[in-house]
Amino acid sequence: MVNYLLMITAELENLTDLQPQGGCDDPNFSYYFKLKCGNCGEVTQKETCVTLNETVPSAKGKGETHLSQKCKFCSREGTVSMITGRGRPLTHEQAEAGKYAPLMSFDCRGFEPVGFSFGSSWKAESLAGTKYNDIDLSGGEFAEYDEKGECPVMISNLRAKFDVVK
Ligand SMILES: [Zn+2]
Repeated sequence: MVNYLLMITAELENLTDLQPQGGCDDPNFSYYFKLKCGNCGEVTQKETCVTLNETVPSAKGKGETHLSQKCKFCSREGTVSMITGRGRPLTHEQAEAGKYAPLMSFDCRGFEPVGFSFGSSWKAESLAGTKYNDIDLSGGEFAEYDEKGECPVMISNLRAKFDVVK
């Protein structure tokens, strides 16, 4: 079994604890990425979307999965299941050091996840304690002025990768 741990980092100016709006195991947070077929290597043109509270019966009839899809090219079937409890908010210290924080683990069968896209519904907190909710990172950036800390706050230079965990 191969799991893919989604790791993220960004530049956090005067901000810390970047994470999904409802925490790292937010049941309604949507993850967008593409899938690479493990058989023919074809990458899906459209991004796929998985959400914790949206499950489908798995093809083999064993429980539930978060995505069941067929490769358009070679018809190989695959599934993506999300594994909770692995995520941690990205802290200011980690971001400063260029380190990645784990966000969500995916058990992918038949496919490999590639190209994660940051969507909307993120939250973060300024170093002065101001909370920012429903941050939209789909444009790649977020900028505000923090009245409490009397300084600008900004999220930029978003990066993500999938680490293979065996
Ligand atoms: Zn294929």
